[in-house]
Formats: sequence, structure tokens, C-alpha cells
Amino acid sequence: MKFTENIETQYAEFRLKNYGPPDLTIVKGEGDYVWDDEDNQYLDFGTGIATASLGHCHPALVAAISKQAETLIHASNLYRMKPQGDLCEALVKLSGPGGLFFCNSGAEASETLIKLSRLYGIQKSGTENSASKVIVLDNGFHGRTFGGMSATPQAKIQKGFYPLLPSFPVGKLNDIESFASQVDEATAAILIEPIQGEGGIHVASVEFLRELRVLCDEKEILFMIDEVQTGVGRTGNFFAHEVAGIKADAIGMAKGLGGGFPIGAVWVAKKFEELFQPGSHGCTFGGNPMACVSALTVLETIEQENLLQRVRDLSEPWIQSLNELKDTHDSLVEVRGRGFLIGLDFKQDPSKIQAELQKRGLLTVRAGGNVVRLLPPLTVSESNLKRCVELIDDVLSQMEPAASTK
Ligand SMILES: *Cc1c(COP(=O)(O)O)cnc(C)c1O
Repeated sequence: MKFTENIETQYAEFRLKNYGPPDLTIVKGEGDYVWDDEDNQYLDFGTGIATASLGHCHPALVAAISKQAETLIHASNLYRMKPQGDLCEALVKLSGPGGLFFCNSGAEASETLIKLSRLYGIQKSGTENSASKVIVLDNGFHGRTFGGMSATPQAKIQKGFYPLLPSFPVGKLNDIESFASQVDEATAAILIEPIQGEGGIHVASVEFLRELRVLCDEKEILFMIDEVQTGVGRTGNFFAHEVAGIKADAIGMAKGLGGGFPIGAVWVAKKFEELFQPGSHGCTFGGNPMACVSALTVLETIEQENLLQRVRDLSEPWIQSLNELKDTHDSLVEVRGRGFLIGLDFKQDPSKIQAELQKRGLLTVRAGGNVVRLLPPLTVSESNLKRCVELIDDVLSQMEPAASTK
């Protein structure tokens, strides 16, 4: 096949405009780094939006994917496949007694959770439709499909796509009363992120998570936790909600699970796993052996390299040095998050700061409000965590010379 040589032209002419035009062409990755088409090297603290949890092209992941590609690429859920069986078992060990469903993305994981809540509502009320409410968090994010979008109370996400699914009342972060006051006979579930990622790194307190668990138990509603961004070690626990010592009734996963290979998953606790019966849900590519060996490699590497402890140990001094930047830079208002899911909240739109960081070789991701997200690989080197702080310090000093001498 013959192609247009200029990639910008290709993107401008042949690609839909749902994304803003990218300003970098990435051609390869290794460990903490990616390279563009002019061979410039970047320290990647965006990791493909929190997906490349083992860094880029981790040798174990490359080996597992290559080997599986030579053996079986796809067969579908009409058949058993050992990698899927192994992944189910591994995730049950990490999540608790229950069962797994696999899909390809975070949005599909959210759809699965919402479908679970409907099935539960029918079981609870005895009729269709009467118990279909899912209370969600203000500023939350659960994906771009109709279910996920309806559960995402953000005008910038929903605008242009009405009518959405009804019955997603909104509660406030760390305000249990705002949830409790909305629970009624029609409520099937609560769905939240333990740390809001896209929304701007807003952390649900341990107390709030515990109060939600108690509320769900008292009112007999499902506590569904979206760990798509926070899960698989990113915050220093396998799941972010573990810090509260609580158990979810269902958990959505995706992003970091495959180390960059697309996979989504939903774990459902034993008590509720019978809700899905043959024919009630499905996904052609879900649990594909390529995706499953990728996820298994991520889980094995987390265990072998003791990555959860590593994230906890390395993130503490790193977050502290990021916080110290506030002393010398007025533009930085707050540092939020946990482990390797960190948001820098700026006084003003940080687009220029982000662009300047990129020029100096540090890739970051925007989040809601004036937040720049830092999402290093779980395997990031200690020296690169320091480098990240130096680069941010340099850029902020350059952009506000007066403030830097405060
Ligand atoms: C990214 C994200 C999603 C959507 O995942 P996709 O793979 O983009 O569909 C859902 N929930 C949360 C919390 C996310 O961060």
C-alpha cells in the first residue's frame, strides 16, 4: 500500500476530529522513556494515560505477548482458554471470592457494572425498572459510552449527546449525607472512583469510603467501585479502596491492567455473581488470550518486583518534594493524590506549563480543572522521579521569575 508521507496531513485529512490535534508523533518506547519521530527522548509521566504500568516494552511483557501471538491470538468466549482461566484465578486472589468478566476498556467495565446494578434492582424489587437508580459522584468519570457517560456528571462530557440514561443522581465527594439523603426504594447501587482521575485527582477519604460501605449494607444496595485508573497498583495498593479496609461488591478495572495492552475487567463478589446468567452479557474480544497474558505478566511482575511496596516507598519522598515546590512557586496551589497518581493543581490554566515541560522532555496528562497529572510507570527509576521534580521546578521558575524568589 502507498501512504501519504506526512502524518500531520493524514491526521488532518483522514481522522475524525473528536480529539484535539496531537503535537507529537511517538515512534518507540523503552522503560521510562518514549521517543518522537525526530529522535527526541521524553520521560513519560503520562504512560499512555496510566496504562503502561510496567513502563514501555517491559521485556517480560514483550516476551509474553510474542509467545502468545505465535500460539493463539483469538478464539472467543465460545471456548475455554488457559490464560483467561489463570487471570480469573489471579484476580479472585487479589479481589476476594467472586467471579470475573472481561472486556476491552474502562467504559465497557462501567457498562458491565451498570448492567449488574439493573439485574440487582430487579432481584431486589421483583420488577423491571422500579429499582434502577445508581448514585454517582459529582465530577466523576466512568467512560464515553452511553452508560458510562450518563454516570459521568460533567457537562463537557455529556453535552451534545442527550438524551442520556436516566436515574443517575449525584452525591458530593466526602459528604455521606449527600448520598444517604438520596437513597430510596428505587436505588440499586452506588458507583464511585476512590480517587477521581479525569476529574482532577480528588481523593475520597477513608472515612467516606467506610461510610458508603455501611450505607450500602444498611440499605441493601450495591457498592460498585471504578478502579479503572486507580487500580492495579497505581496508588501503592492493588486497589485504591483497600486503604479503607473495606470490600466492594463489584470492581471495574482496565487502564493499567494490561500494561498497555487493551483489557477491561469486572470482578463481582460471590454474593452477587449469580446475577449474570448465560446470555445476559458478553463481549467478543473480552478475555482474549493476548490481553490475558499481558495482564498476567503485569500481575506477576507486580508480585516479583514487589511493586506495591516500591510505589509506597518511592512516592512518599517524591510527593514531599512536589509539595515543597509550592513554597517557591505561587502558581502551584495543591498537590493531590496517592502513590503514582498525582495531580498538580495550578492557579491558572496549566496548558503552557505542560507544553514547556514537554519541550524539556517530560510528558504529563491534563485532568479536570487546572490540574496536570503525573502518572509514572510503577517501575520508574528513583532518579527519574527526582528529574521530574527538577524539570517542573525549572519550568515554573522560568515562567514566573518573580514568584520563584518569594
Ligand atoms: C479512563 C477511565 C474510564 C474509561 O476507560 P476507557 O478505557 O477510556 O473506556 C472509566 N473510568 C475511569 C475511572 C477512568 O479513568
